[in-house]
Amino acid sequence: MSLQGKTAIITGSNSGIGLGIAHEMAKAGASVVINSFTDSDEDHALAKSIAEEHGVEARYIKADMSKPDECRALVETAGACDILINNAGIQHVAPIDQFPAEKWDAIIAINLSSAFHTTAAALPKMRAAGWGRIVNIASAHGLTASPYKSAYIAAKHGIVGLTKTAALETAEEPITANAICPGYVLTPLVEAQIPDTMKEYDMDRETVIKEVMLKRQPSKEFATVEQLGGTAVFLCSDAAAQITGTTISVDGGWTAL
Ligand code: NAD
Repeated sequence: MSLQGKTAIITGSNSGIGLGIAHEMAKAGASVVINSFTDSDEDHALAKSIAEEHGVEARYIKADMSKPDECRALVETAGACDILINNAGIQHVAPIDQFPAEKWDAIIAINLSSAFHTTAAALPKMRAAGWGRIVNIASAHGLTASPYKSAYIAAKHGIVGLTKTAALETAEEPITANAICPGYVLTPLVEAQIPDTMKEYDMDRETVIKEVMLKRQPSKEFATVEQLGGTAVFLCSDAAAQITGTTISVDGGWTAL
């Protein structure tokens, strides 16, 4: 699969799944734009190392996905946007009656509204180029729920709905929009949930991983960032040209239960 000549923007990609997807996109020949809300030497060094490793152009562009103007500016600054991967995401775990309102607002802004703004900015570029792929990183929690993750689950169900609408609005064009629904992938976002979950369930780390986190993942294995990157590359391939408005689960059987 060659994505040579295509430019992929991956939001929230200085770590975890986004960085994994950036590597797989670059390996397939795409120029990549990686992003987060910071602007450190490490961020720019990451882009440089992707460029060197895969022999493609890679840039880091700072943009805070909680801010509508910066979401749109990311796409404008990048220039071309053939492939848009909406990946930026945060998590907060608390019961609804104790869930801080500002956390709800931040999660909805970063995990859901950012994808609306980047998509709005990207569609004219895709239409002008006569080709486009939108891949939204939802979650198994875009299809099912768990306690204590109200904002995340609302945002992830929302992004599945946004994906379907984007697909219908582009159905007669050479543009597709799909969502990938990962189960648990061991990234910094998941790592950060372990201490709270250990407290919540009064369990040690290993028990939390096997009995709580992977309880609903029948394979009992974390998915990998390479597998998610490979799925995103597939959705950009010619074989996937008629796949639009749907979800692909990469969840070790979670949603089959
Ligand atoms: P991560 O914490 O490693 O990565 C999140 C990325 O988002 C980071 O690059 C971070 O810098 C960026 N980010 C956070 N706030 C931002 C902001 N305001 N503006 C721009 N960038 C911002 O987590 P991850 O696990 O790699 O998560 C990536 C995506 O995958 C998220 O949308 C998450 O919901 C989804 N997901 C993760 C899992 C999992 O098990 N790890 C499962 C299902 C879905």
